[in-house]
Amino acid sequence: MYKPKILVVEDDPAITNLIRTTLDTQEYQYHTAKNGTSAIMDAVSYNPDVIILDLGLPDMDGVEIIRKVRGWSGVPIIIVSARSEDQDKVEALDAGADDYLTKPFSIDEFLARLRVALRRGRNGETAASAQSALYQNGELSIDYAAGCAYMEGKEIHLTPIEYKLLCVLAKNTGKVLTHNYILKEVWGTAVAADIPSLRVFMATLRKKIERDSSAPKYIQTHIGVGYRMLRQ
Ligand code: CA
Repeated sequence: MYKPKILVVEDDPAITNLIRTTLDTQEYQYHTAKNGTSAIMDAVSYNPDVIILDLGLPDMDGVEIIRKVRGWSGVPIIIVSARSEDQDKVEALDAGADDYLTKPFSIDEFLARLRVALRRGRNGETAASAQSALYQNGELSIDYAAGCAYMEGKEIHLTPIEYKLLCVLAKNTGKVLTHNYILKEVWGTAVAADIPSLRVFMATLRKKIERDSSAPKYIQTHIGVGYRMLRQ
């Protein structure tokens, strides 16, 4: 059986040990790098299925590593950051990272994020869903050709903005999308002042697709960051 390969980029030995111990108990192979220079070389030579990336490295900014890796690879990248690096986290997601964990994180959370990233795979769901005219996720489906969305087979009446919003989230299922990214995709421009209107559209969209919009199953909120469509 193929064991997924994880590249762990982290300069803090305590966190590296924690991750190693966790990965040892699972069906994963891994390789560790302590700085940005070796991380970039390992991203090529080790050819990982997922990269776990600490943002604060001794020789290089984590965001720079993401930009370099994205130059040739769509490998899922999960950022590990300290809470003080919140702004960097958003920048890292905009540079092409898929997800993030804030230190200290739980092992269960870590493994759950890893599974989502592995499911997304190297080309993301974007490539697969771009080819398919139909999106299916739990009871939610989208017929891209017809421009219609359905819940349990019944058409959901969406405004053009709500439909666009839903499609952007669906085409990036599993990936955390920043407010800026969503604003650019839906409205063609990203202005911080538009975040409140994004929240309003998100609330009305949720009312239409979530059974309980106070405990959303499909669209997850990332406070101060953005939203993610969860795979059911
Ligand atoms: Ca660090």
